[in-house]
Amino acid sequence: MRLYPTRGGGGSIAFSEAILSPLAAFGGLYAPKELPDLGDLNALKALSYVQLSRYILKLFETDLDDKAIDEALKTYDRFDDPKEPTPLVRVGDQLFIQELWRGPTRAFKDMALQPFGAILSNFALKRGEKYAILTATSGDTGPATLEAFADRADTEVVCLYPDGGASEAQILQMIAQTAANLKVIAIKGNFDDAQDALKKLLSSKSFNESTKANGRKLSAANSVNFGRILFQIIYHIRGYLQLLQRGEITNGETIDVIVPSGNFGNALGAYYARKIGLPIAKIVVVSNDNNVLTDLIVAGKYDLTQRKLIATISPAMDILKSSNAERILFDLFGEARTKTFMENLAQNGAFELSPSELRLLQTIFEAAWSNESETFAAMRQSARDGYIVDPHTATCFKALKLGVSRVKVICSTAEWTKFAPILLKAISGEQKGDKEALEIISKRFNLAVSPAIANLFAKKTIAPAPIAPNQIEADVLEWLSKRP
Ligand SMILES: *Cc1c(COP(=O)(O)O)cnc(C)c1O
Repeated sequence: MRLYPTRGGGGSIAFSEAILSPLAAFGGLYAPKELPDLGDLNALKALSYVQLSRYILKLFETDLDDKAIDEALKTYDRFDDPKEPTPLVRVGDQLFIQELWRGPTRAFKDMALQPFGAILSNFALKRGEKYAILTATSGDTGPATLEAFADRADTEVVCLYPDGGASEAQILQMIAQTAANLKVIAIKGNFDDAQDALKKLLSSKSFNESTKANGRKLSAANSVNFGRILFQIIYHIRGYLQLLQRGEITNGETIDVIVPSGNFGNALGAYYARKIGLPIAKIVVVSNDNNVLTDLIVAGKYDLTQRKLIATISPAMDILKSSNAERILFDLFGEARTKTFMENLAQNGAFELSPSELRLLQTIFEAAWSNESETFAAMRQSARDGYIVDPHTATCFKALKLGVSRVKVICSTAEWTKFAPILLKAISGEQKGDKEALEIISKRFNLAVSPAIANLFAKKTIAPAPIAPNQIEADVLEWLSKRP
């Protein structure tokens, strides 16, 4: 597989290069042009998750060697059930929830970041190089990246999170990490500010030169990195195969996939899965109050001029600059058009699809958004029906009103335990802190709290004082200079 710059301006590169240098010319990303064919689904039905993953990685012809692939896939042993890391739960007649959060940090980011961590450190060892990996988080990428790289040789991770933009459990997960190769920075601002700061750092000449002088190469662990996206194609395929295996659908029957979205990595994985032959009718992209993606898919307009980021109860979806939407534009409309769209967005804060472009987009995607009271109501109703969902997954219930009658799979992106106070408020109106809320809900619904979350509240930790985005570079360099 070769990967191409989404805004043109350069040749194609190999998978490994795109992992190490995720940003392309003119501020674009790397994305594939030629995609393989998934083949007969019946033949894949009996494969385990790891076997299926190996098949897909081979199909995409990445330049990973077998050792790197084995080590990457071994990380799924850290999931609740390594044989079935993404269990599918029936919650309605034609409705299923795919639990993508059964990894070590209880959010779906582990699905891709666990193997990604293994791959990057494999590169580091093989090439005798050291890497500094940057990441910006709206709450779940940070903990998952830190967990994936903790104590891995020859890699350092710097994690930027927006002060006040994440839940208490998410912040504790980050600052409770004690491995010496990890650094967590709280920044003054929201997730878009954190992601902007990340992109600036990655392309800053002085920063690149200083880290180079320090003997380190820079990379990023956000979903701007195609290395993550590849692993996000696999679970969508797995979800379909599970339905097939259980006789819920027949081979070739189309289903809808409903995705609570922010940076569009999860939905992009579904897009590529569909493109290589998975029978998905519609990918339903769900937003919260920050519903730019709804406007894009419903009206063909991506317009930030009248918008300010709104802090919601689903913080991982509080994003206005949805990076991976660019890869969809590239795939559907080509690099020249994508460059124009992105330039318009940078210069005027908006871009607009033509009517025919919009029609094409709508053959693949549908969109919905859930406001705060609708999301609260969905959490309450789902609890009454006997299934506890986190606030991100809960936004998806709004999308059930759309479309024709088909089997639908909701991608559940986080375990409720990361948002216990919000859930308790939704279910019974009680206002409690994380620790108490966890206890009350787990008792009332007879649910286990994973040790990864339960133990957080026993640790004594202090959040770092937030710094301004323009202080990040100096702060990171000072820290790196003290690393061996
Ligand atoms: C990251 C995240 C999302 C958004 O996923 P994208 O791939 O960025 O669209 C949704 N829910 C949760 C819980 C997340 O952590």
